[in-house]
Amino acid sequence: MKVPFLDLAAQSAEIAHEVLPAWQSILASAGFVGGPDVAAFEEEYAAYAGVGHCVGVANGTDAVELALRAVGVGPGDEVILPVNTFIATAEAVSRIGAVPVLVDVDDEHLLIDPAAVEAAVTGRTRAIVPVHLYGQVAPVEALDPVAARHGLAIVEDAAQSQGASSAHGRAGGLGRVAATSFYPGKNLGAGGDAGAVTTDDPRIAEHVRTVAAHGSTVKYVHDVVGFNSRLDAVQAVVLRAKLRRLDVWNVARRAAADRYAELLADVPGLRVPSTRPGNEDVWHLYVVRVEERDRVLAELGAAGVGAAIHYPTPLHLTEAYASLGYRVGQFPVAEAAASRLLSLPMFPHLTEEQQVHVAGVLAQAQTRTRVPEARPA
Ligand SMILES: *Cc1c(COP(=O)(O)O)cnc(C)c1O
Repeated sequence: MKVPFLDLAAQSAEIAHEVLPAWQSILASAGFVGGPDVAAFEEEYAAYAGVGHCVGVANGTDAVELALRAVGVGPGDEVILPVNTFIATAEAVSRIGAVPVLVDVDDEHLLIDPAAVEAAVTGRTRAIVPVHLYGQVAPVEALDPVAARHGLAIVEDAAQSQGASSAHGRAGGLGRVAATSFYPGKNLGAGGDAGAVTTDDPRIAEHVRTVAAHGSTVKYVHDVVGFNSRLDAVQAVVLRAKLRRLDVWNVARRAAADRYAELLADVPGLRVPSTRPGNEDVWHLYVVRVEERDRVLAELGAAGVGAAIHYPTPLHLTEAYASLGYRVGQFPVAEAAASRLLSLPMFPHLTEEQQVHVAGVLAQAQTRTRVPEARPA
């Protein structure tokens, strides 16, 4: 049996009968940029995230950059973000000419550690970017007082968490502004690159719209130096069709996560993920931790199970960010996790049969792992 890491074809099959006629009318009308589907999607996604405004943009990395610029982050400013994230979070900061300031994550959920954030604040700090990693919701409520004390903006990176919520609200509506990505593999994915910025603040939404349209609100009148970051009509059509199914798909992911927890409960030497109290996670990824990760990953691959690592290298140890001057050992939680992380197949159409196979192969692989002695409680 083969179990893919992600099966997007099953999603496409569900929406094809809605998407194809809509694409055909876009071809016929040549309304490729902007238009009614983009406007409708922006409205629908704002409502979904529980905020007043959504601005569709070209991809998630642009969305993070635009959100940061909209809260006033500029060259030389510092922006605090977790060291265990996709590199795009940091790239968006760097593209502004601002400085990514990395902090460690908590050992249980691998989310930004609020105490570490407080310790990293300097006079040049301008914003904090909690990343809602793996479909969880980061502890924004614990960052709020830090942000208030130091006059910082909270800019959520909600690329992996469409539909997730904590006791305090929905991901994408917890900070002053949020960025999300609709890369095809995200919980809400387009048929190519796409992203969005969500906020309750109309001035922030307006700023994002202007910068993303060459600094212009009136054609050929350019008030600031912007760039081009648009959500295409063909993507908006896919996103509208998938948004209608997102809650059902997220429920299916949650059921799959529960089933993994049951199937893996007795596998030795395996750490399964847990949900923060009060959270409704949407399981973008199902990330376990194992001791001999590279061997286990190879055995899964040999048995036809697609697995992956998110992320193999904490940002401070990448070549790209060597210039920030961090050292090995500086972020012990993220570093210890990086060699153990293992993302199992997770997608809405994953079947029980497939999960049983994954769990079986993983249990077999773990019988060959030397389980370290239990740490004293
Ligand atoms: C995917 C992702 C991004 C970037 O989105 P793109 O659309 O690929 O540019 C940013 N942050 C996180 C956490 C992501 O997972």
